[in-house]
Amino acid sequence: MATRPIERKPDWLKIKLTTGDNYKELKNMMRGKTLHTVCEEAKCPNIHECWTNRTATFMILGDICTRACRFCAVNTGLPTELDLQEPERVAEAVEQMGLRHAVVTSVARDDLQDGGAMIFAETIRAVRRRNPFTGVEVLIPDFQGSEESLRVVLAAKPDILNHNVETVERMSDKVRAKAKYGRSLELLERSKRIAPSIPTKSSIMLGVGEEWDEILQTMDDLRAVDCNIMTIGQYLQPSVNHLPVTKYYTPEQFAELKEEGQKRGFRHVESGPLVRSSYHAHDQVQSAQQS
Ligand code: SF4
Ligand code: SF4
Repeated sequence: MATRPIERKPDWLKIKLTTGDNYKELKNMMRGKTLHTVCEEAKCPNIHECWTNRTATFMILGDICTRACRFCAVNTGLPTELDLQEPERVAEAVEQMGLRHAVVTSVARDDLQDGGAMIFAETIRAVRRRNPFTGVEVLIPDFQGSEESLRVVLAAKPDILNHNVETVERMSDKVRAKAKYGRSLELLERSKRIAPSIPTKSSIMLGVGEEWDEILQTMDDLRAVDCNIMTIGQYLQPSVNHLPVTKYYTPEQFAELKEEGQKRGFRHVESGPLVRSSYHAHDQVQSAQQS
């Protein structure tokens, strides 16, 4: 799959990837523990800043996804076998990296009966056992609408329950064919009903064909299910085989959207061209918990 940049990006998206000793050391540690991070897999432009600030996003349940969302660079195909030792290795890595906030996400495992919920729960517990002062956020798949799987994850008491709607309702089928906008909202609503004290969070990326009014409508939809934290970032096409970017939003437009979100009552809105779901995640939790 080609990964070269295919479009001229505006200046505000041009950043230099820094790969100092700290980065190399952590990368080697991940290889040694056969762990995956979204930070690396997605070549996230924020990796140096985040790892230096002791935040990272682990990708559990393997690195092959059963879905094939048209914006996503993760490999799709037949998933690997379940690795029951993975939760403990994630916990060790969190300890070794001295993370103050760990985000745990996964590929979609539609081949598993529980969608991987049990491994999510085990990972939360393992991280907590070794790192009692580290915040644990889970960015979960929709578990194909299973309330039972959601309950398994919530029973492990994550600090944040994150599930992304990814885009506005009209673009959802095109952007992530196997997911449903309504099902994602339902997951967030259920989470609040089952565990009201756990803040919920969701993200969208801009530049896949949405209109401004639809972004505001998505904010309203998320607030209608009492979602507490929203992040908004610019979509960047990972390769020529992925959805093209339809528009680059300016930093001023992102700032305007932050204001729109705050007006609607989100406890925290992180909005900017390079914002990703887990960007400044520790600060997001702090402000969500203070509100
Ligand atoms: Fe990793 Fe998220 Fe930071 Fe990117 S924004 S480097 S994925 S923690
Ligand atoms: Fe990527 Fe998640 Fe879609 Fe899988 S479900 S293709 S990991 S966005």
